[in-house]
Amino acid sequence: MIQNGQLLNYINGTWVRSPATEFSEVKNPATGETMVRVPLSSRDEVDSVVQAAQVAWDGWRRTPATDRVQYLYRLKELLEQHFDEIARITTNESGKTFAEAQGELRRGIENVEVACGIPSLMQGYNSEDIARGVDEIMIRQPVGVVAAITPFNFPGMIPLWFLPYAIACGNCFILKPSEKVPMTMSRIFELFDQLGLPPGVLQLVNGGKETVDALLDHPGIRAISFVGSSPVAKYVYSRAAANGKRAQCQGGAKNPVIILPDADMDTTTRIVADSAFGCAGQRCLASSVAITVGNARTSFTGRIAEAAASRSVGYGLDADVQMGPVISNESKQRIERLIGKGLSEGAEALVDGRNAQIHGYERGSFIRPTILNNVDPRSEIAGTEIFGPVLSLMHANTIDDAIGIVNGGAYGNQACLFTSSGAAARKFRYEARAGNIGINIAVAAPMAFFPFSGWRDSFFGDLHGQGRDAIDFYTEKKVVVERWPTEWTRTF
Ligand code: NAD
Repeated sequence: MIQNGQLLNYINGTWVRSPATEFSEVKNPATGETMVRVPLSSRDEVDSVVQAAQVAWDGWRRTPATDRVQYLYRLKELLEQHFDEIARITTNESGKTFAEAQGELRRGIENVEVACGIPSLMQGYNSEDIARGVDEIMIRQPVGVVAAITPFNFPGMIPLWFLPYAIACGNCFILKPSEKVPMTMSRIFELFDQLGLPPGVLQLVNGGKETVDALLDHPGIRAISFVGSSPVAKYVYSRAAANGKRAQCQGGAKNPVIILPDADMDTTTRIVADSAFGCAGQRCLASSVAITVGNARTSFTGRIAEAAASRSVGYGLDADVQMGPVISNESKQRIERLIGKGLSEGAEALVDGRNAQIHGYERGSFIRPTILNNVDPRSEIAGTEIFGPVLSLMHANTIDDAIGIVNGGAYGNQACLFTSSGAAARKFRYEARAGNIGINIAVAAPMAFFPFSGWRDSFFGDLHGQGRDAIDFYTEKKVVVERWPTEWTRTF
């Protein structure tokens, strides 16, 4: 909710104006217009949020799971009713196209749908007669008050990777959205407010680093979910763990895609271009390095350059726009600097998207799709997450050499292969050191009922977001061993 140009926090079932003295601003990245002021909430505010959650938790955990999910069924209905309205907010604050904003909300809603199955997903298991007359059962209980800290690139979907599972499992949940894009979830929390959830079960606190640190340090919070860049993911993981919390921290990426000569080149080009330039390259599953093998170099290079050069760039709510701006002017400058760095390291710009001018949107943070050819796998640019519409091309002689390049990188969020050979696909699936694998797919985003499985520097923790991992993360397992000797049986 917005009041006098300032976003409010949602605390204990009420919209509250933060007494913060520091603010950041949300700017529409296409127009440069300031949309709202975001309070950078203090430690004291975080403390009041956690206290409200602690009070709410006892009643919420005793609410039967079958009753808890009724709120999610109603939430799903409200999200469907307000689908386009929310997607428009996402476009305006993040820059992505309206179709991309609709797509991410759809993937977010899928998590609400899966979490509606918690009454069965949360079941434990048991064994009768583990010894004569002794039974053993495992039951799952909610962990308590939990929090999530989320990034700018999916303002609606990523909070929904966590929130529905957390509350359906009986936890009280606190969200700290990205201060760059807090408006989508603010609107979604207005819908939550209509659900009649007990106060304190779901809360929203806006802020930046100080707010995050307060969440990480607060003894009342038992578990932290984080999605963002790898250095911050590692920091959040370490600080949460040092404070005795359970943590799952998803980090950055540098996703390679291998193209074998037997791939269907037209389809491959279309799919790889969508992956590299969709959401202006600001997806953690964006393909950012394409490694051609053998003759694929000739057939792929020209096609992908053409696809990059012909992509229409503009304001995401305008018709026929395929790619919007990057999130901010600072981001644009950083990406353009990295393109320059790649050129100074010996790469060649087949398509150079720097200095883009979009008529009518001169204050926007636009970069057009960029293709850097002959990027050296050992160069700095090859290992740096650019997080913009830049695809680096590398060329290898064999699939083994190409897999060597994939496995030589530090990240492990996603690796993809394009081929018509089942044997090559199996070899790749077996050997590639990444947690999300695409075969003839270049955004291998797991459905809500599978874990979002980053590896290596793309993930810090054990249990991933979504799927059955989410149930394990948001519950404690309790094992009961019990004996009821027959001689204690009374005769009535
Ligand atoms: P970011 O790391 O800058 O910010 C993420 C969150 O952390 C924000 O809420 C922010 O307020 C907070 N934060 C930032 N700096 C902090 C600090 N020093 N101390 C404490 N908290 C801090 O990330 P971003 O720029 O918002 O998002 C882009 C990054 O997220 C990219 O690296 C992308 O690959 C990654 N990402 C990963 C996944 C995944 O599933 N692995 C998904 C989406 C995005």
